[in-house]
Amino acid sequence: MSDANHERAQRLISASRVEGISPRDQAWLDAHVEACGRCAALARSTERALGSLRSLSVPIDASLVNRTRLKVYLRAQELHEEQHRTWALWISCALSWILGVASAPFVWRAFAWLGEQAGLPSLVWQIGFVMWWALPAGVAAAVVAWHKSRAVDEEASSATLPRSNS
Ligand SMILES: [Zn+2]
Repeated sequence: MSDANHERAQRLISASRVEGISPRDQAWLDAHVEACGRCAALARSTERALGSLRSLSVPIDASLVNRTRLKVYLRAQELHEEQHRTWALWISCALSWILGVASAPFVWRAFAWLGEQAGLPSLVWQIGFVMWWALPAGVAAAVVAWHKSRAVDEEASSATLPRSNS
């Protein structure tokens, strides 16, 4: 018998105990387990393990379950929003780069003209041009770094503060 069949059988054994499988898969699995000692042993040991788990009755506070659910939900929401913010940041970075590259020749000419009008050595207005280019990126990097460190601080303080109202 091919390895793929055993793998499928093992996947179905787990799935049938967790989320359930279709009648067609169940029929296939039954037929396979009947013919295959290895997978039959796996099915039996899975059943035994689950059986001993079920027989362990753990008293769980219903409000604890609800609070945990709420926390998981809120955290999922938070992660979702964070992802959105990260995307927005990437898009604005890409746009600023595109705009920067597109406008560079005009800005270069403007700096050259200004340098000429002011009688500056070309090195001075060229440094000015580089600064104009690097400054927004530097500011953006600083803002991102600041946000990151603030997020870490918030995480740290929320982890240490006892929260009686949650
Ligand atoms: Zn098998």
